[in-house]
Formats: sequence, structure tokens, C-alpha cells
Amino acid sequence: MTDLPAHASPKLPPRQLPSRQDGILDNASQESSGTGEHTPAIPDSLLSPAFTPPLTPGGTLDWDLSPTAILHQHQAADIETKSQHTKEPKLLEKLPEVECIVRARIPTTNGAEMFLHLYHNDLDGKEHLAIVFGNNIRSRSLDSVRPGETEMDRMIRGAYVGTLRPGRVSSRYDEEQGAASTPRQVEPPLVRIHSECYTGETAWSARCDCGEQLDEAARLMSFPVEDLASDAPAEVQSLSSHSTGGVIIYLRQEGRGIGLGEKLKAYNLQDLGSDTVEANLLLRHPADARSYGLATAMLEDLGCGADAIPEGIRLLTNNPDKVRAIEGPNREVLVKERVPMIPLAWRTGGEKGIKSSEIEGYLQTKISKMGHMIQ
Ligand SMILES: [Zn+2]
Repeated sequence: MTDLPAHASPKLPPRQLPSRQDGILDNASQESSGTGEHTPAIPDSLLSPAFTPPLTPGGTLDWDLSPTAILHQHQAADIETKSQHTKEPKLLEKLPEVECIVRARIPTTNGAEMFLHLYHNDLDGKEHLAIVFGNNIRSRSLDSVRPGETEMDRMIRGAYVGTLRPGRVSSRYDEEQGAASTPRQVEPPLVRIHSECYTGETAWSARCDCGEQLDEAARLMSFPVEDLASDAPAEVQSLSSHSTGGVIIYLRQEGRGIGLGEKLKAYNLQDLGSDTVEANLLLRHPADARSYGLATAMLEDLGCGADAIPEGIRLLTNNPDKVRAIEGPNREVLVKERVPMIPLAWRTGGEKGIKSSEIEGYLQTKISKMGHMIQ
């Protein structure tokens, strides 16, 4: 033991992790945990209600009942309510404050170029993103002058016009492009609000179509119209997205806002027979826990609000609830038009797009229970 090499970690006794048997996290298992080397159970009277509220996200279920039984006992009415799509989207009374901290040019693998904008906000500690295509959309908070900053500071945080190149000294004037022209919005920009989906975008999951939707949104915003595939729907064919560019607001609200851990539990419930909405409800989460105040605030900052574009934006979505939600409490953003996104597999008769038994059920649930309009 004593002749371990210098780089070896000291041997530590195994850490006692809290478990269901400790009686601290799970009040119901007290009886079996009061003996042996386990920590004695804490009496009910000393337990903070915070440990065992009935609606703790990810809290313990009554495992004596099958998920279906629990669903029928407690959640059926809830599903009924949530499936009627008549609910008002939850809107914050006041939009959060957002600030674009940095912007950088990203050449992409398909040849198009975009500008990634990273935002901070006063609502959560997450770094939400705006993926901007074209040169017409600029962030006000990024471009505003910060006290004491140098031209180099401005270029490093991406507050420059034109193109960066070695030796450039001014953030405001691009020698090769001449005087900075004020970006002019030719026609309403295409906007997509996308919520982070690690499984669908990075881990090749065929349970949902998030990765495909993100790719498709980027494609519509970055390619000239003549390059659109002939299988694109007519509404999309008519878009002159090349001249306007667009923006994907990328919100870090994994799993419709419940987080990756809870989403993975929901997947197991789906394998046990629940659909995507039922699974969330079984885990004591709303069917959709997302909110869009941040997206509205970011759109406003990017000059896509009603003050800058009174004619409104074109929103790429199948979710009619999202239209009102994005517009904000005082219609800070105006949605002029909803542009649908048809799954690639439906558009191509199954030739392209996601092929899995899970995806069909997922899309059907979106239509029947979440009011999506996938034509
Ligand atoms: Zn997804």
C-alpha cells in the first residue's frame, strides 16, 4: 500500500451514496432501513417536505402499480385536458433580459456559412444560442459599445462588420468591403425556434425528428432557392430564403424542458408502452415544459421584433401553440406566416429521412395530443 507511485490517488474508503434504502430520499422504505449498518431512518416529523413532495420532478413512483395503472388512476384527466390544445401558451409577463456575449463565423460541412451567437440572460444560467444565416441579422446588444473596449476587443467578441482577416484593425470598417453598409432586411426573415435534443442531434436517435428538423431549417436558411430539392413543398419552394437568411434560436431546454435524465426515463416508459406525452405525465412532468420568453427576447435583440420588422417574421414550425408563444406577452415579435416542416420521410414516400418504428408513433402523438399540424 505504501509503495504506490507518486501519481496514484490515495485510497479512499467507498463513499456512501444516498439510496432508496437510506430512508432519506424515500420515505416509503423506512421500515426496512432501520437496522444494520444503514443510516437509521429519519422520523416523518423531521423530514423536510422538500424531500417528498408529491410532484417532485423525477420523484419516486408507486412501484407496486404498473405505469399504466398509475396513469389511469392519476393522470387520465390531465392528459384529457392537455390534449385539447385550447390552453393559452404560458407567457412570461415581462421578457427576460438577454445579451449577446460573443459571435463567431462558422463555416459548415455543407458549404454554407453561419454566425453563431452566444447569449447570457437573467432567467437561467444557460448559454442559449442564435444561429444566424446571412448578413442582414445583427445583434443590438453585441454591437453596442462597451465602456473602455478597444477595437481588438470588439473584433474578438465578434462585434465587427464584413470579414475578419489577419492585420485588420477596425471593427467598424472593412477595408476590402468599403464603408459599412447598414444591413437592410429585404423581406421577413425565416425563423426557427429549436430546443436542444442531445439524443436526436448528436446520438443518432431515431425516436424523434429533431436532428432532421434542425438540418432542414439550416438548409432552408442557407441555400439559394434554385438549390432547393425538387421534393421540397410548394410553400418552401416559394421562399426566397437566400436573400433574407434567417435565424435558428437554439434553446438549451433538453427533452421539452425536463432535462436529459428525465427524458431517458421517458424513453424507458415509451418502451414499456406509453407514448411521448403519457411518459412525461407519468414522470410528473407537463407534456411540454418549454417556455419561449427567451426566444422572443433574443429575436428582439436580433432586430426581428415588431419594432424593427413591423411586417413580421416567417416562423418555421408545425406547432400552432408556438406561434402565439413566440410573439411574446405584448406582441414584441409578430409572426406573419407559419411555414410548415414536413418530415422528409413523408415527403419522399419513405425514400429519405428517418426510418424507425418509433418515429411514426412519435409524430402521430404530436399530431393527436400536442396539436401539431403536419400536412
Ligand atoms: Zn428530439
